[in-house]
Amino acid sequence: MIENKEEIPFEEEKGLNFVEQIVSDDLKAGKNGGRLNTRFPPEPNGYLHIGHAKAICMDFGIAQKFGGTCNLRFDDTNPVKEDVEYVESIKEDIHWLGYDWGDREYYASDYFPKLYALAIRLIKEGKAYVDQQTAEQIAEQKGTPTVPGKASPFRDSPIEENLDLFERMNKGEFEEGSCVLRAKIDMASPNMHFRDPIMYRIIKHPHHRTGTTWKVYPMYDFAHGQSDFFEGVTHSICTLEFEVHRPLYEYFVKELADDSYCPRQIEFNRLNLTYTVMSKRKLLQLVKENLVAGWDDPRMPTICGLRRRGYTPESIKSFIDTIGYTKYEALNDVSLLEHSIREDLNKRANRVSAVLDPVKVVITNYPEDKVDMLSIENNPEDENAGTHEMPFSREIYIERADFMEEPPKKFFRMTPGKEVRLKAGYIIMCTGCKKNDAGEIEEIYCEYDPNSKSGMEGSMRKVKGTLHWVSARHCKDVEVRLYDRLFNVENPAEEKDKDFRELLNPDSLKVLNNVKVEPYLAATAKVGDHYQFQRIGYFSVDPDTTADKLVFNRTITLKDSWAKVQNK
Ligand code: ATP
Ligand code: MG
Repeated sequence: MIENKEEIPFEEEKGLNFVEQIVSDDLKAGKNGGRLNTRFPPEPNGYLHIGHAKAICMDFGIAQKFGGTCNLRFDDTNPVKEDVEYVESIKEDIHWLGYDWGDREYYASDYFPKLYALAIRLIKEGKAYVDQQTAEQIAEQKGTPTVPGKASPFRDSPIEENLDLFERMNKGEFEEGSCVLRAKIDMASPNMHFRDPIMYRIIKHPHHRTGTTWKVYPMYDFAHGQSDFFEGVTHSICTLEFEVHRPLYEYFVKELADDSYCPRQIEFNRLNLTYTVMSKRKLLQLVKENLVAGWDDPRMPTICGLRRRGYTPESIKSFIDTIGYTKYEALNDVSLLEHSIREDLNKRANRVSAVLDPVKVVITNYPEDKVDMLSIENNPEDENAGTHEMPFSREIYIERADFMEEPPKKFFRMTPGKEVRLKAGYIIMCTGCKKNDAGEIEEIYCEYDPNSKSGMEGSMRKVKGTLHWVSARHCKDVEVRLYDRLFNVENPAEEKDKDFRELLNPDSLKVLNNVKVEPYLAATAKVGDHYQFQRIGYFSVDPDTTADKLVFNRTITLKDSWAKVQNK
């Protein structure tokens, strides 16, 4: 036991969120023998999304911060929807976020025997009964929060009969839906969850771990608290929708716990993001109906989708830190998440040249076979990032939008008769262009100033615009995938009268096949690498990349709408 409160090593009370404060207080008070054990309890019925990341950062983060442990527990109580594919993806995603459960990998299905034994005990004590009514009949008798429910005609059937029925339920003698095991608590309770909640239902679908051993499966409310107890979990941290379940959690746990140890449930607000959906059911629908390319489609709010898109664990954690943990539900602005990945990539991504919509420029006074190797800083934000070389030759590509024959005022890019600077290169003056029959620009002509190379005296001249470019002879063709928001409306879940699929943004993916990149990029890019394409945005190398073709995902544009809002 802790005797002197002053000696407890928790000086940093400032800046604790409300959950950390509770944990800190419990530890100081020596509750549960001074232990801290949390758990992250995903149901393996889908891939994890960024909402789960918030729960993971809490469950694993708080254990780390206060010297406790965090269990990974698969809440695998519904074999119909669950699969090992999901188990594997969940583990991969937690590791990627930077957390580890060591040897504490558990499954609610490991506790099926213990839960079944507890159910038998409760039946024997007259605290549970088998109800042979239909789900509709049971629902009709539930009442409303202000009107008490009606007792089931099976509520007072003899204990022996209930025992016999429950055992036969588990042997598979009854059809699914024909009966359930209910806790006998209080049909008049103001808390609807106390009105004889269902403990077990019949499911005949085989389970991915226990096969056909069981025909009855525990409901969440009968499994969760007890699983926490069996594992020695001290703080069972979950989201606000479970607040109304807490009295029932405590009711069942009390059947097992004593004064020396009892798990405690604490709830915080969910993470919700604008322009996307967070429900696993809807995400599964998007995947199954091929409305996206898979769970890891870079437009998905899943962790694997964000990873493929180019998000880093650090940027996700920093976003979660910023939104914080409270007791109030909120819709979080996706531009805040975008802000955090920009900040992170700004520090770590090497700058390279890529031209998304190329048009050729011929430097007419530059010798045909000459090549200049120009040196470029990899990352001005990181002095250890070094430099790389980029070839310059007579023909280069620039962005089509960077040239205008008859520009409006304040167009400081390329236009006949004006000078522009080439990034890390020479100053060039446009002398004219060639158009095809349709009036489209085919080729632009320029002259360079040999004295204006970066570092030379001539480069000091004031020139307003600086353009990115690649050497036509040396560049490589790559594929670039541009993403926009998956949905057209801020909060698809709120549009109750519309099917959420009608709200999808039809232009959320645009594929560019004629993108030209500098040779340095083509030579160094590995799947998962992050780059800043100068003046365009942050891009990451997609796993679809092959030896013949590099594929890039646009993680995010350079323009930061969140910073703009902040600076207003
Ligand atoms: P389901 O509808 O399948 O229950 P779920 O999103 O609740 O979906 P679980 O696998 O049960 O999925 O969630 C595991 C944990 O993640 C739970 O503790 C849950 O509270 C938490 N969690 C789920 N969604 C969010 C979210 N949007 N924000 C924060 N935590 C979340
Ligand atoms: Mg859930």
